[in-house]
Amino acid sequence: MLDPLDTPCISSFHADVPDAAQPGNRSPTRRQFLQALAAASAGTALPGLAWADIANNTADRVPDGAPIDTPEAALATLLQGNRRFALGRMTSCQVPIGPLLRETVEKQEPFAAVLSCADSRVPVEMVFDQELGRLFVARVAGNIATPEIIASLEYGVAVLGTKLVLVMGHGHCGAVKAAIAAKPAPGQISSLYEFIQPAVQQAGHDLDAAIHDNARIQADLLATSSPVLSKAISEGTLRIVPAYYDLATGVVNVLKA
Ligand SMILES: [Zn+2]
Repeated sequence: MLDPLDTPCISSFHADVPDAAQPGNRSPTRRQFLQALAAASAGTALPGLAWADIANNTADRVPDGAPIDTPEAALATLLQGNRRFALGRMTSCQVPIGPLLRETVEKQEPFAAVLSCADSRVPVEMVFDQELGRLFVARVAGNIATPEIIASLEYGVAVLGTKLVLVMGHGHCGAVKAAIAAKPAPGQISSLYEFIQPAVQQAGHDLDAAIHDNARIQADLLATSSPVLSKAISEGTLRIVPAYYDLATGVVNVLKA
């Protein structure tokens, strides 16, 4: 009997995918799944979604299965995954979870790290359509570079060898909104404000501008305050880039530094 963990978790996104790519049809391999799904989605866009807005932030396409061993390839892979997510054509959930769990018990080989907000609307692996073990994710309200976050990302880069750190702000961020309002809050919530204040001072009370500036400032902070990260940058093995996630479209855009 087939173990449920050895079957893909969902197929509802892919009602228009060719039969050969559908679960249960002559047991296609994982690679065949991905190739068929990529072919099915090539050059198509859902009505109302600005394809060009997504494509403008993509690097050269990384072929399926190609090594992700440079910051450029890591960024392109992330953005390609986000394009699939925003178009409702995710492939990561087509991969049976059982073998993936077994493959990742003893090791992890994430190709990129992402610093994002803790917001429930920003599920990082889903937003970039990545499987288990592919992303090293640090999340904290306001996507801020606290000492613990810096330490975590240093581990991702120096020990795990990630080639990219993406610092991702998002629309309607409650942490930035609260830092702008600067009202008393229960517990330790207000301890977040000091990290976001530089962006508020720069952008004023414009929430979206503050969110953009905050992502840029936290990315700068990572690049300049950590000798581990700055060394990797100077050696050309790491890039740290700020980005913005649009809640309404699902699209991630890289920000100009
Ligand atoms: Zn947020």
